[in-house]
Amino acid sequence: MSRRACVVGSGPNGLAAAIVLAQAGLAVDVFEAQPTPGGAVRSMELTLPGFVHDFGSAVHPLAAGSPFFCSLPLRDHGLDWIHSPAPLAHPLDDGTAVVLERDLHDAETALGADGKIWGGLMRPFVEHWSQFAPDVLRPVPSIPKRPWLMVRFGISAFLSAKTVARRFRSARTRALFAGLAAHSFLSLDELLSGAFGMLMGVSAHAVGWPIPRGGSQSLTQALCSYFSTFGGTIKTSSRIESLTALPNYDLTLCDVTPKQLLRIAGQRLSESYKRQLKNFRYGPAVFKVDYALNEPIPWKARECLRAVTVHLGGTFEDIAASETAMRNGRHADRPFVLLAQPSLFDPLRAPVGKHTAWAYCHVPNGSKLDMLSKLEDQIERFAPGFRETVLERRVFSPAGLEDMDANLVGGDIGGGVMDLRQLLFRPTWRHYATSARDLYICSSSTPPGGGVHGMCGYHAARAAL
Ligand SMILES: Cc1cc2nc3c(=O)[nH]c(=O)nc-3n(C[C@H](O)[C@H](O)[C@H](O)COP(=O)(O)OP(=O)(O)OC[C@H]3O[C@@H](n4cnc5c(N)ncnc54)[C@H](O)[C@@H]3O)c2cc1C
Repeated sequence: MSRRACVVGSGPNGLAAAIVLAQAGLAVDVFEAQPTPGGAVRSMELTLPGFVHDFGSAVHPLAAGSPFFCSLPLRDHGLDWIHSPAPLAHPLDDGTAVVLERDLHDAETALGADGKIWGGLMRPFVEHWSQFAPDVLRPVPSIPKRPWLMVRFGISAFLSAKTVARRFRSARTRALFAGLAAHSFLSLDELLSGAFGMLMGVSAHAVGWPIPRGGSQSLTQALCSYFSTFGGTIKTSSRIESLTALPNYDLTLCDVTPKQLLRIAGQRLSESYKRQLKNFRYGPAVFKVDYALNEPIPWKARECLRAVTVHLGGTFEDIAASETAMRNGRHADRPFVLLAQPSLFDPLRAPVGKHTAWAYCHVPNGSKLDMLSKLEDQIERFAPGFRETVLERRVFSPAGLEDMDANLVGGDIGGGVMDLRQLLFRPTWRHYATSARDLYICSSSTPPGGGVHGMCGYHAARAAL
């Protein structure tokens, strides 16, 4: 008889773990609290009929470049990546935009005086992405397969975004880098914030920032479909309140965060391990809005229509002020806004001639403040008349996000702060293992952290096997 394993939670990490276990010959059942699998990688009609919105993740450089996902035949299971002509646009108050071109040579040309500096920073990792990605998307204390590449990355990336950005001559390039680094949810003068800026930039050139045709759900569907070829099952609408409800498994992997693990596995964990889990710190949250639009967003800088992702925040200093406020438990007056406009490139997202947009800003964990007008003021700053194009909107406060996915604790979409301490000890020094021999944790609260790449699930399952 084959051994039996179960996975609690069907986010990308839960599904990755389930696939690794099934590939190894275990009989695997997945239990998911929500009526559909996918966690923060789901799409649904959140506004009007015919408008498909990504509830969570929208743009997927790390999924398209994930060493594990790339090893799976996901295309045969319906996954099709769409690339916009440019990955990213960053409009400025003078009515122009800095556009990040996907091809590194084109980006160097477009960035003018800073082109060579940009290329020098990014090229080694862009050219060696297939060696760099497995090393950067794994626990930090492990010995890298390409040490010279990681040392080189560490030299530039360990620094704050502010220090890295000092290399650029133009305020336009500094603004572009601030937007990339702000994906870290760190203050831009904190150590490691530069690493996020670098990783986002490198992935834009090495992989692109694609969207799945038909919505993020297509990625989840492809993973579920491949998993089912091994006979794996996914039981939806099955919230696990206690692991005592799952007695018949040789191995249990939990795609949950430390707070939930304490609740559902409490009696199986040692007191010292429980203490370590209680010290885990969650990160800032997001305030998110999905839009059904009557027409494309009326950007002042028309070149913003070439990019699926648009960063709205203006200069480096403006974005730094927004992120420092959020990191210190305050709400920015002019919050940095990340916006995606998938229907410009994927006709399956909206009725003919209509459009969707997805936008969020960073707020303190558990924030109850309504940020809608501040968020829309930032869109209007670069696209006057935006509000008139809105047919319907759906707002998610941090609590609203957590209602949709219990892992989004207080609205934290990264599974916990990613500062130096939690880069090394995530969620504890044991990483995926717990104090119980047959119980592992595999969510984004483990290395390498947030983002859709499945590498937390992959490494956890390998550790368990
Ligand atoms: C608004 C938003 C925007 C984002 N944008 C991007 C983006 O553009 N690109 C990107 O790469 N990443 C993005 N992310 C982050 C990314 O989606 C997450 O990092 C990723 O989904 C984490 O995967 P996971 O498997 O660890 O957890 P999740 O995807 O959160 O999945 C956890 C699953 O476990 C289930 N669960 C929890 N507790 C239980 C229980 N007790 N019993 C049964 N089931 C349970 C939940 O219902 C959920 O389905 C975004 C996230 C959000 C919310």
